[in-house]
Formats: sequence, structure tokens, C-alpha cells
Amino acid sequence: MRTIMLIDMDYFFAACEEIKRPELKTRPTIVGADPKEGRGRGVVMTCNYVARKFGIHSAMPISTAYKIKPDAEYLPVDYSYYEKKSGEVLSIIREYSALVEQVSIDEFFADVSGKAGSYDEALSYAEQIKSAVREKAKLPCSIGISNTKLVAKMACEKAKPNGIKLVKPDEAKSFLAQLPVGELYGVGKKTEEKLEKMGYKTVGELAKASVMDLMDHFNAFGLELHNSANAIDESEVVENYEVKSISREFTFEHDTRKDDEITKEIKELSSQVGKDVAGRSLSYRVVTLKLRYGDFIEHLHSRSIRQTSNPEEIAKTAVELYRENVDSSKKIRKLGVRASGFTEYKNQKKLF
Ligand SMILES: [Mg+2]
Repeated sequence: MRTIMLIDMDYFFAACEEIKRPELKTRPTIVGADPKEGRGRGVVMTCNYVARKFGIHSAMPISTAYKIKPDAEYLPVDYSYYEKKSGEVLSIIREYSALVEQVSIDEFFADVSGKAGSYDEALSYAEQIKSAVREKAKLPCSIGISNTKLVAKMACEKAKPNGIKLVKPDEAKSFLAQLPVGELYGVGKKTEEKLEKMGYKTVGELAKASVMDLMDHFNAFGLELHNSANAIDESEVVENYEVKSISREFTFEHDTRKDDEITKEIKELSSQVGKDVAGRSLSYRVVTLKLRYGDFIEHLHSRSIRQTSNPEEIAKTAVELYRENVDSSKKIRKLGVRASGFTEYKNQKKLF
């Protein structure tokens, strides 16, 4: 019996902010771009359930949120704190399962096959994990349980917020069948529209579609759609080998104060880091520049940016950090460029 859980943190960024300032729990709290009194660009990253009651949701333009609730709490994204909390959650889950795969900053698969002999046991095991996360990390989460990653993930969606949902293997197909195709994991807006045009409105209808027909329209993805709709997913929970940061350093032969020489080297280091990041299918959100001066004093300058997989942003950010922070009275001996705050953007697809 394979037993897989998806543990997904509820309104994670906003929940983290509530730890810092408990009074936010009763106030509509929105983490994301600066609303700039309604003129701000960018989106809501996460908001708490008080804000959701007003119809505010993640990915909504921040200006729209501001129109709805100008007196809400608007907070900037504090990635380094969320990462710290994410790490705490991960180590709590590891106490319960030796096989944990972190999917994103706030989502974790755990294979508990060896720990739970029956699905009833799995259910009480999930309750233990949930209360440990609540007590130790002070954070709410929801848990989906099934025998596949796919169904565990989709069960978790139905468990939210703050719930646990078990879908036993013999219930998996009927659980999926009633859902609209757009809710099937891996189906985006475009695929949803295409499937609806083909006459498949529910996952149950899609499950009965001919594989050949699906493959005609979607190539290899058609087979994935067929398998998913039929609750077939063989993929395993895979331990991430942890890449916490990727960096490159360079030491000048002679200490230098020449701006063009230094920025050229920062760009070169950034491009090497960028290649490495892209090669591992990572997206990143923190860029750090290390400057070591001729007197061996070393400074680190970091900036959080919007999560991106675009390697160009590394050089852009690193050069900005250089211009803003360099002590131009001193010569530079050594440079370092680092990217961190990773999410494996292809991981979602690996589900299939
Ligand atoms: Mg979440």
C-alpha cells in the first residue's frame, strides 16, 4: 500500500506575517506589491482569510484589491523570513517521514507508506503532522492523502483551508470524475478551453475519451491527460537534493577601481550563475553581490526580486547592487555573485 500526503501551507506568506504581528489575524492582510494608493502595479501574492471574505485573492492586481479594501494591511514580501519558516516546516515533516519532497516554498509531498499500515492510520498520522506544524511552526496547513501524488494534491485542494482529506484508491476515480476538467492538475486555461470545445466538461468525461483522440490533439500530453483523468500516476516522492544557492567568484590579478572592468566581471559571473540556474530548471528570487576590497574587508549586498527563471535578472540586479553599494574610495580585490531562494519550476510537471 502506497500512502502519499501533500502538505500545503494555508495562505502561507500572510500566515507568516501573522506570526510577526498577531493583531493581523483579525485584519484583512495582503502580502504583495505596493498598492501606492491604487496606482500601484503588480499583484496580490497572498492574503489571509479575512481579506478573502471581501473577495480579494492571490494574483489579483494590487490596484483592484486597493479599490475593494483601501484600509487593509498591505505588506511587502519578506522572503527571507518565509524561507526560514518553510525550513522549520520541512524539518517538522521530516520527523514524521523519511521521504519528503519539497515542491515549493509552502508545499511538501511525504511518502508515509512505511509509517501507516492502513488509511485510518494515515488519517491520524496526518492529524499529528498538522498539529505539530501548528504547534511548533505556528502555521496552519491542509493535507491531502491518497495512493498517488496526483490525487493527494487534488484532495488537498478540497481540504483547504485548515483541513485533511483522504481519498482511498478505490474512490480516486469517482472523486476526480465529478470535477470540472479545469480542476484536473496540470490542466491550464488553454487546455481547459480546448477540452471543453471537444466536449469534455468533467474529468469523468475526459476519463472515457479515446487516448488516440487525445494524442491527436495534445501529442504526448494527451496520454498524460488520459492517465490523470483515470487517477493513474506512477510518479514517486523524490527527495530533493538541496541546492540552496549557486555562486561564482572571481579574484582580480591586481586590485582595481575601474568601473568598466568590475561591471564586466560582474556580468560574466552573473552569466555563469545564470547558466547553472537554468541548467537545473530553477527559478530564483534573491541575488547577492559580494565585494571584497583590497584591505580584505568583505561586504555582502542582497536583493529580493520577483521569483524568476530569467537569467538576465541576475546581472541586472548584481550591477545595481554594485552601483548602489560600492565604496569608491577603495580598490576591489574579489567579486562574488550568488543566486538563491530557489523553486524548481519544472517540479510541478514531474507529477506526471
Ligand atoms: Mg499553499
